[in-house]
Amino acid sequence: MEKKRCTAIVLAAGSGSRMKSDVAKQYMLLRGRPLLWYALRAVEESAVIDDCILVAGAEDIPYVKEEIVERYGFRKVEAVTAGGKERYDSVQQALKVVKAGKMRVPNRDGYLFIHDGARPFLTEEILYRGYQAVEKFRACVTGMPVKDTIRIADQNGFASRTPDRSLVWQIQTPQVFESALIIEAYEKLMQEKDRLAAEGIRITDDAMVVETLMNLPVRLVQGSYENIKITTPEDLLTAEAFLCHYNILEKSGG
Ligand code: C5P
Repeated sequence: MEKKRCTAIVLAAGSGSRMKSDVAKQYMLLRGRPLLWYALRAVEESAVIDDCILVAGAEDIPYVKEEIVERYGFRKVEAVTAGGKERYDSVQQALKVVKAGKMRVPNRDGYLFIHDGARPFLTEEILYRGYQAVEKFRACVTGMPVKDTIRIADQNGFASRTPDRSLVWQIQTPQVFESALIIEAYEKLMQEKDRLAAEGIRITDDAMVVETLMNLPVRLVQGSYENIKITTPEDLLTAEAFLCHYNILEKSGG
């Protein structure tokens, strides 16, 4: 079967307030390179991904274009577009670019890989597993089974239910969809977002958009325990440790 066109949407328009830093977390340096560089490198070197839309804060676009995309020669990045207030607003902005067919090769019946720019340890294996799953199931999200027991708290802060740990996954990105499917799902979301909010339904990721508005089950696909999102300061220490480990492996030819 011919390979479908695959576009990565890399999100970097968050404020990163939990990082408590003056520099937005996606631009903080990790081993001398902006955090965002790592996800873009995985995209650039991937045989799965053909092109990329990068979403950044409106005021950061000149910096991102000059200091990241041009400086490091990320040629797959075809558009840098301004994000919005919530994560789903940022996704919506990228979907507008796809829908308008403004890419060099329009992605009409291919796949979109939506990825957090704050997840530096994206790998080709993860991208490939996403491709295989989306071909079969139309919509899939990367995640990993949790290692800890999860308890659901009651309203008063007491431990209540304990879901079966083997069935609980922590969700990561990329989240991968047929492009026409996710475009339609987001169009519905924009029409129905007030109703959903009134019903107390809070949409926190792209898979929820597809499940809730398209009534389509979303397949879980294995990511990795290293595919962390840099959210709070200690995550940077974890990231440093992973990089140090890989460096040693590379040096020893492993
Ligand atoms: O805030 P959180 O860590 O969940 O954000 C996940 C990813 O989504 C980050 O890469 C962040 O830059 C991006 N994001 C965005 N637009 C927003 C909020 C978050 O692009 N309004």
